[in-house]
Amino acid sequence: MARVSLAGIKKTYGSTEVIKGVDIDIADGEFVVFVGPSGCGKSTLLRMIAGLEDISGGTLTIGDRVVNDLPPKDRSIAMVFQSYAIFPHMTVRENLAFGLTIAKAPKAEKEAKVAEAARILQMEHLLDRRPSQLSGGQRQRVAIGRAIVRHPGVFLFDEPLSNLDAALRVDMRMELAKLHADLGATMIYVTHDQVEAMTLADKIVVLNAGVVQQVGSPLELYHKPANLFVAGFIGSPKMNFLKARVDAVDATGVKLSSPDIGSLVLPKPGVDARVGDELTLGVRPHHLAAGPGADLHGKVVLVERLGNETLTVIGTPSGQQIVAALPGDIDITPGADLGLVPQAAKASLFLPSGLAA
Ligand code: ADP
Ligand code: MG
Repeated sequence: MARVSLAGIKKTYGSTEVIKGVDIDIADGEFVVFVGPSGCGKSTLLRMIAGLEDISGGTLTIGDRVVNDLPPKDRSIAMVFQSYAIFPHMTVRENLAFGLTIAKAPKAEKEAKVAEAARILQMEHLLDRRPSQLSGGQRQRVAIGRAIVRHPGVFLFDEPLSNLDAALRVDMRMELAKLHADLGATMIYVTHDQVEAMTLADKIVVLNAGVVQQVGSPLELYHKPANLFVAGFIGSPKMNFLKARVDAVDATGVKLSSPDIGSLVLPKPGVDARVGDELTLGVRPHHLAAGPGADLHGKVVLVERLGNETLTVIGTPSGQQIVAALPGDIDITPGADLGLVPQAAKASLFLPSGLAA
C-alpha cells in the first residue's frame, strides 16, 4: 500500500502542453477518481503515474520514493484498462497467473495468489474457461484479477467499465467499491462519467484541459463547486445558470434581480460583489419546486417522465431554458405556464471570472 503525490506534473507533446502543472496528494488507501470531459488529460496523467508515459516536468512520488525515472514494473502499481487486454488463447487461470509466470514465481506462490484473486472476485468456478466463454463483466473481472495477483501498492483504472452495458456497469461499480473496502489499497480511477466519480470516490479530482479545477469529496463538489466548470460538470441534470444583477449586498447575503427570476435574496455571507455587478446564479434542477409564489416563470417545453421524478424544461420570457426535477406524478403538459420556486439557500453564485462568489 502506498501514498501517491504529484507535484507540478506536466506533459508536453512537441510544443503542446496537455498537462499543465498538476498537484494532487493521495493518501494511503484512498479511492481517488480523476474525472473530466474526453481529451482533458485523464489517461495521460494516469499513464504517467504508471510509467507508460515520460513525465515532462514535476515530481511523482509513490510510497516514499520519487519514481519519475523508474520503469513501470518497479513502481508497485498495477493497471486495468478499458479494453480488457486478456489473452484469448489462455484460460482464466493462465490469464490470472500470467504476470507471475513471466516473473518466474514459484508454482505454489502462483497457485495461492490465483486462488486468492479468484475468491475475492468470486470466479473460482470460471478458472478453466477461456475468455470467449465469459461475459463482458466476467472478462473485466479477469483483468482486475490480474491486477490483484500482483499485490500492488496502487491500483490504476482507466475507464474500466466503459465497454459494459448500463446495468452491468452499476453492478461492477458496486463490486469495485467492495473490492476497495476488502483490500484497503490505494486506487486511482479515471472516468468521464460523473456518476461513477460521485459513487466510487473518497476524493474527486475534476480536470479540464490539463488543469485541476477542484479537489474534494463528492458532496463538497456538489454543494460547493469552486467554479462554473465544476458546477456544470458535477450533478445530473446539469445546474441551471441565470444572469443576475446585484441590487444589494451586506454581511448576511446578496439581493439579486433578473428578468427571469424577478428578485431573490441569497443568504450567502461575505460575497465579494458590488451593487450593479452582473453575476451568474446557479440553481440545480433538484432545488426547484413548482408552486405558488413562484419567482421564475415560463412555458413548459418538454416533460420527461422517469417515474420517480419528472424532468421538466421551461422556456423563460428572456428565451432561456431551465430544467427542473419535479415529483414523478406531477400533472403538467407541454405548453402550460409553470412557476418555479428556487431554494435560495442552496443556490450558487459565480463572479464574472467564473469563480464561485
Ligand atoms: P482523456 O483520457 O482525458 O480523454 P488523454 O489523456 O487521452 O485525454 O489526452 C489528453 C490530450 O493529449 C488530448 O488532447 C490528446 O489529443 C493529447 N494526446 C494524447 N496522446 C498524445 C500523443 N501521443 N501525441 C500528441 N497528443 C496526444
Ligand atoms: Mg482516456
